[in-house]
Parts: sequence; structure tokens; C-alpha cells
Amino acid sequence: MAYVTVIDEQNSAASGSAGNSLPNSAGALFQLLRDGTPRTRSDLTAMTGFARSTISARVEELLDSSLIRPAGENSSTGGRPPSTFSFNPDARAVLAVDLGGTHARIAVTDLAARVLAEKEQELDITRGPVAVLDAVGAIAMELLQEAGRGPEDLLGVGVGVPGPVEFATGRPMSPPIMPGWDHFDIPGHLRQWFPGPIMVDNDVNAMALGEHAVTYPGVANMMFVKVATGIGSGIISDGRLQHGAQGAAGDLGHIATPDGDTTQCTCGNSGCLEAVASGPAIAAQLRERGFDVPHHGAMLELVRSGDLEALRTVRQAGRQVGLVLAGCVNLLNPSVIVIGGVVSTAGEHFLAGIREAVYSRSLPLATQHLRIVATQTKARAGVLGASTLVTGHGLSIENVNRLVG
Ligand SMILES: [Zn+2]
Repeated sequence: MAYVTVIDEQNSAASGSAGNSLPNSAGALFQLLRDGTPRTRSDLTAMTGFARSTISARVEELLDSSLIRPAGENSSTGGRPPSTFSFNPDARAVLAVDLGGTHARIAVTDLAARVLAEKEQELDITRGPVAVLDAVGAIAMELLQEAGRGPEDLLGVGVGVPGPVEFATGRPMSPPIMPGWDHFDIPGHLRQWFPGPIMVDNDVNAMALGEHAVTYPGVANMMFVKVATGIGSGIISDGRLQHGAQGAAGDLGHIATPDGDTTQCTCGNSGCLEAVASGPAIAAQLRERGFDVPHHGAMLELVRSGDLEALRTVRQAGRQVGLVLAGCVNLLNPSVIVIGGVVSTAGEHFLAGIREAVYSRSLPLATQHLRIVATQTKARAGVLGASTLVTGHGLSIENVNRLVG
């Protein structure tokens, strides 16, 4: 069985499912029910214009698959009340894995990204792919048991990793903070526990999907910016996550800040955004000014204590992020920019610095309805996004037709 690591709709269309996406298929009808609203056969007939017999046959197929379930009777019409049906998020489960540099969060969710069981624990990514993924597999089996599910109940597994991923293969590509993971076949290794599709993406892309699905489902153009040890972003444009040609889209961290800063970056260039505004960069700036902040955790504590110099430094870092984002705003015209990652927990001064620079340096038309906000899904963004990655693919028209066929 081929590993399913395809994320992009264009690619899944190219992978050969012509004829499996007919508008009157069960999969197409299911898309109308995915919003969770209970509907009758008559509702579905009116929405689609298809024959009532076609609708009835498709509803039966979807009921048999458990992807929809009876949702009671609609009593408003008088006479014999018609039955309603709605999406059944319990039909299958999803395993969602969010791997960070030093921590992992693993969750079992339903098909609507509701968390059924969850665990966060220290897990050093530098231990290498076999040790890390073996630990993930063991924790996942415990969580499935806790949720009363088995590997065979999974629609799929979604994994976010803290590095660039070639989205067509699901393999990390020269990830700077993941020694030993370059080109590693993550789906192939996880398959010893999980038989279904396994999808891998960059952690910030996963966070963007999670925040979008849970907090901003109606927003078509959004950016999620993670500011932590590194800086990156996930771009949702016209309702879809953008990977770019090789999967490198959104890598904000190595865009040069516009004011000619000469701080050396780990990538070999100087003045990169990550070198001047990431958690470690802010901590280093404060150390230069005599503060005892050995790491960015200590920096955040200093900020939260209200130290004025620390607040000024964080606000200036926010401005640097904002200067780079101003270019993104002019280019992409998002209506929401969500700021996440541990540095975003520094509070309003960081966000205020970002807003100040974006609003003063972007075109008025692009900022007219722009909101710059802190993440609502917080530390869960990654697992919610990993779950959304799986359902976005696994509940497509073509794949639902495979499930009911
Ligand atoms: Zn750089």
C-alpha cells in the first residue's frame, strides 16, 4: 500500500482519482453534512437538485458507513415527521502528533478535532527518529486504549515536525534542529503500529491548520506566525494551506529584517528575523545589557515580572517581526494574523510591537480589516492541526467514496 502523504488537493487530483468524485456520489453528499447541521432527505434534495431516489440511496450508504447518523425527527412540518441526519464525528478517530524540539504532544481526536485523550511529555527531537517515533508509538497505543479505540479505528495519523518537510513524500528535508531525521521515512516507521494513511507536515503549517479549523473556519486568508526558538509561519490563502513548490513556503525566520541588522544567524546569513527576534535572540540581547537570562524561559519570566528594559526589548522584537510581516501583508492581504509560539506568551508588549510596525508599514487597503491576534488554541494548535490534516484528506469526496464503497 502506498503511503498517503499527499496534502495538497491538486496533488491528490493528480494522483489518479478521476471518476471517483461525481457530484451525486456519497462523498459529495457527505460534504454538505460535514458542518454538523441535521438535514432531512428533502433538505438534501433541495440543496443538490438530485432525484429523491438518488439522495435516499446515498444517505443509506453513508448511514451504513457510520459517517452520518440519525439526528432525530424534524417536527416542524406536521404529519409524519421526516428523519434528519448529521455528520457523526465518532465514526472514526484520528491520531495527532505534534513534535517540538524538546516536547511532544500526542492526542487521539474524533473526526471534528475534539480531543478524546491527550498526553504531553518531554521528548528530545535530537534523540533521532527511531527513538522518538518508538516513544510516540508507545504513548499513542496507551492513548488509544484510554479513548476506547484501536489502531483499526483510525482514519489516519497526522504528524507535525519542527523542520521543513517535503510535502509530497512526508520526509523532513535538511531540518536544522533535527539531527538524523534528514529524508527519514516517518510514515514507513509509524506503519508498524498504524495501518492507515500517515501524513506529515511542518509544525507551523499544522498549527495554522489547527487554529484555522477551530477558531477561524470562515476566514479564507490567514497567517499563523510561531515565534519561539525559531520563527516560522503557515499561510492559508483562499481557504487552503500553501506549501509552495517544495514545501518551504512561510519560512519567515530567514527573511532579512529591513533595517540592516548585522547579527549572525544560524543559517549563515546575517540580520535574519530569527537572529533578532526569536526567544533566544531576545534573551541574548538582555544578557548583553547585564541581565541574568540564560535561556528564553528566564527571559519570559523577566518580562512577566514587568521589568521595563525587558518589556522594551520584547516590544522592539515585536516591531522587527512586524516589519517583516508588513511585507507579507502587502503581498498576501490576510484578514487575520495569529501570533503563537512561546514568545507570544510574553504578553501585550510583543503583540503591540508587531501591530505598530504592520499598521505603519503596510498599505491602508491591506490593513483596513486586518486583525492581529494571539493564538486561541495555544499549545494545542499543533495537535488540532495534525488532526485537521488527516480529516481534510481522509474525508474528501474521493476518500469518503472509498470508505463507503
Ligand atoms: Zn537565517
